[in-house]
Amino acid sequence: MTEEKVKVLIIGSGPAGYTAAIYASRAGLNPVLITGGEPGGQLTTTNDVENYPGYPEGVNGPQMMMDFQKQAERFGTDVRYGMVTSVDFSSYPHKAIVDEKHEITADAVIISTGASAKYLGLESEKKYANKGVSACAVCDGFFYKGKPVALVGGGDTAAEEATYLANICPKVYMIVRRDELRASKIMQERVMNTPNIEVLWNTETEEVLGDGEAVTGVRVFNNKTGEKKDLEIDGFFVAIGHKPNTDIFKKFLDMDETGYLKVVPGTSKTKIEGVFVTGDAADKVYRQAVTAAGMGCMGALDAERFLQAKEFETA
Ligand code: NAP
Repeated sequence: MTEEKVKVLIIGSGPAGYTAAIYASRAGLNPVLITGGEPGGQLTTTNDVENYPGYPEGVNGPQMMMDFQKQAERFGTDVRYGMVTSVDFSSYPHKAIVDEKHEITADAVIISTGASAKYLGLESEKKYANKGVSACAVCDGFFYKGKPVALVGGGDTAAEEATYLANICPKVYMIVRRDELRASKIMQERVMNTPNIEVLWNTETEEVLGDGEAVTGVRVFNNKTGEKKDLEIDGFFVAIGHKPNTDIFKKFLDMDETGYLKVVPGTSKTKIEGVFVTGDAADKVYRQAVTAAGMGCMGALDAERFLQAKEFETA
């Protein structure tokens, strides 16, 4: 095991991690950023980002994340490809193991590991990823303006996204596997009162259909009767939940029942001194690139203040 000591360690390379890196490096904290298994994060699975302020023509997701990286590196962030495989926050300074072979000791740790959208796991869903299949209606719904779409899921996210899509699409099929929605009462009412949303109860997806280039439909079946049906659609949205990438922190940090890390409200601070959380790892409500970036900024400022206070204590 090789060893090294750094001032600030940032774990994760989405908008939260890179924004934390930009702020921390401009503050002279020489951060080391470990990218994780999906460098650039969720935005690298999106073609066009049109809702990030400052890009009037929109921007390609992977390109945007390369720009984030360049900006962080310009101020001295040491970006490294690798995976933090475990951490030890039981004593100070904190420790993280990278790729099971390199130990980094850090005065402050900023966690920006994000979350991953859950998918159904169908071959056809993978085949048409970014060609009609999306896990984010707010990001990609606009590309299907004026076209029929389908959305899978029955939780608050699905209900919210279905009503969002219903504003821009003439028809929204909502594919729900049970005979009721999990969503809150108010969201259920909103779905039921939206005339162009058709809920297909007890229904599951067999296959996303396409012409090789783009989605053209979806084959669904009723799990009570076995009856199959093909729906003509252009966009297929999956809204069955997200999984925050927080397993390695379980032993040390508080999280909710689904794994989202808990922070002191209005800050990025955790219950452990010198450990901060930013972005989707702590946010199950907004989950946007711009909110993650904002939280990344908070993480770096909190870390900077923490380190200053620490220096003052020991001076
Ligand atoms: P969720 O509450 O876990 O709901 C997931 C939905 O997807 C459920 O309807 C579930 O069906 C369905 N599902 C799961 N796996 C499936 C599969 N393999 N095939 C078909 N359907 C599947 O997830 P969420 O809607 O993303 O919400 C996560 C949390 O964030 C919740 O606590 C929610 O209240 C909260 N949230 C709040 C707001 C808000 O306050 N504005 C907005 C969004 C989310 P079953 O019901 O049959 O399990």
